[in-house]
Amino acid sequence: MTDFYAVIGNPIEHSKSPVIHHAFAQLTHQDIQYERVLAPLDGFAQTVHGLISHGFKGANVTVPFKLEAFAMASRLTERAQDAGAVNTLIFDAEGIIGDNTDGVGLVRDITKNIGVSLAGKRVLLIGAGGASEGVLHPILAEHPALLIITNRTLDKALNMVKRVEARDEMVFVSVNAYAFDDLEGQQFDIVINATSAGLSDSQLPLPSGIFAPNALAYDMMYGRMTPFMAFALQHGAIVFDGLGMLIEQAAEAFSVWRGIRPPTAPVIEMFKQQAKA
Ligand code: NDP
Repeated sequence: MTDFYAVIGNPIEHSKSPVIHHAFAQLTHQDIQYERVLAPLDGFAQTVHGLISHGFKGANVTVPFKLEAFAMASRLTERAQDAGAVNTLIFDAEGIIGDNTDGVGLVRDITKNIGVSLAGKRVLLIGAGGASEGVLHPILAEHPALLIITNRTLDKALNMVKRVEARDEMVFVSVNAYAFDDLEGQQFDIVINATSAGLSDSQLPLPSGIFAPNALAYDMMYGRMTPFMAFALQHGAIVFDGLGMLIEQAAEAFSVWRGIRPPTAPVIEMFKQQAKA
């Protein structure tokens, strides 16, 4: 019996998720079908209920519905509560479970695929939107020495810090919010761009000395050289885009749904080869 899954978004035609999940299914011998579903901007809940009534077992959720998915889930995993957003839905007899696999996806890509530990490192997280919120707690769980959040709208970064401070178990990491201007003179081992500035080819106002020797510069965007990546290369950092995160967050969703963890290396390699072709 084939099990059905989907990714819901608006727009959705660009989504690579069906290709990724069908590759996982082939590698793990799972019988699934995975579709792109365009939900009307005012019709997310209706779309989800439509999938459930057609027997779908789960769905991924992308822009702009991650907050609506959070609101409509009947149960939330701890990591979805931490993130305040849902990118993975599980449909079972008791209702709709909301999960978030973005943070674990980023951390696995950095620590396992790239092979850089976050423990004891000075980390700069740029951006305070949904993607940044989603990765905040999983990064902290790796015990960096220091985490600075910077954002064009500083209040949003300050609010993220306040929420971290409200949680006792996070006190062992030094977490702060800085305006871009206050980054002058600071150096970081890992700089993560969680803004969408690359979409409009905008340069972030980062000081040139921001990268420590052998620093990792990670842009969550994928599929293009962003101004942030070009700047980081120019200043000696080791640069990665968010393709690995995309595939790792999908692998986590797949293993939540199917109870089997797919190998990610061949799928990352497949996309890299396609990009070169
Ligand atoms: P949001 O719209 O929630 O947040 C956008 C963030 O980018 C805000 O912090 C915003 O700052 C900042 N920003 C936008 N434009 C600029 C600019 N010109 N200069 C400085 N800051 C800017 O988006 P998301 O958080 O959902 O997504 C962010 C990025 O992460 C996207 O590129 C997305 O594709 C990527 N992503 C990748 C994933 C992956 O698997 N690889 C998963 C999820 C996201 P302000 O608050 O001031 O507006």
